[in-house]
Amino acid sequence: MLNMQGIGFSYGGDTGVIQDLNLNVQQGELVAIVGPSGCGKSTILRLVAGLLKPTSGEVFWDQSGGPQIGFVFQDAALMPWKTVLENVALPVKLSRQRPDMCHLMAYLEQVGLGGFEARYPGTLSGGQKMRVSIARALSANPNFLLLDEPFGALDEILRFKLNDLLLDLKTSQGWSGLFVTHSLYEAAYMADRVLVLQNGTVVGMVIPELNRSLRPSEQRTSKEFLAAVAQIGALLEEGESHDA
Ligand code: ADP
Repeated sequence: MLNMQGIGFSYGGDTGVIQDLNLNVQQGELVAIVGPSGCGKSTILRLVAGLLKPTSGEVFWDQSGGPQIGFVFQDAALMPWKTVLENVALPVKLSRQRPDMCHLMAYLEQVGLGGFEARYPGTLSGGQKMRVSIARALSANPNFLLLDEPFGALDEILRFKLNDLLLDLKTSQGWSGLFVTHSLYEAAYMADRVLVLQNGTVVGMVIPELNRSLRPSEQRTSKEFLAAVAQIGALLEEGESHDA
C-alpha cells in the first residue's frame, strides 16, 4: 500500500535526519517504528503524510489519487470549545463532506463513548480524550492511520485497553498504518512488523508471531511475545553500541 524507497531527508543541516530509508506497509498491516529519541520517527510520519518532501528517494502509494490518511497524536489536541461530537466531525467537515451524525455517533459508541457526544473535552479523563481522538481520526473513513506515540502519556492499564480497542477497530475496519512508539512491549503487542530505527535508517525488523485468537493477557505473556520483545531490545542495544 505504501512504499518508500531510498528516502533521504535533512532539515537543512549537513547530516541527513533520514538516510537511505526503505519502508513498506502492505494492505491491512500495522507496522511499528521503534527507536531512541531523535532518531527520526516523527520525521518519517511527516514524510508519509506529505507534510515534508524527501530530499532524495520517493514515496509511492498503491491507490490512485493517494490514500485517505487519519492521524492520532500523543496530545489528543481536541478543541475545548467544541463538544465531543463536533470534535469527531471535524475531519469530515474539513474534507468538505456533510457529516453523517448517525455514523459519527456509531464511532463514539465503538470507542466506548456512547452518551458522551454533548460533553466538552475539559470534562473528560485523559483516556476518554484519547478515545475521542481515535474516533476523530477514523470519522472520515481513512484507509491509512499515522499514530505518533498515541498512548505515551497514559498509564499502563489504560494503555493496554486502548491497544486492544485499536486492534479491534483495525480488524473490523481493515485500515493499514504506521505506529511510532517508545515501548518495545507495545510494539511487540500491536504490530504485524516492527522496524527498529537508528540514526534515520532501519537497522532491523522483527515479526512478532502472536496468536491473535488467544486472550490479550495470554498473548502478552506468550513466549512469542517475549521473544519479539527480546529481539527488538537486542537490535536497539546493537545500535547503541555502534553509536558509542
Ligand atoms: P523522533 O521522533 O525519533 O524523536 P524526530 O523525527 O522528531 O525524532 O527528529 C529527528 C531529528 O530531527 C532530531 O535530531 C531533531 O532534533 C531534528 N528535528 C526535528 N524537527 C526539526 C525541525 N523542524 N527543524 C530542525 N530539526 C528538526
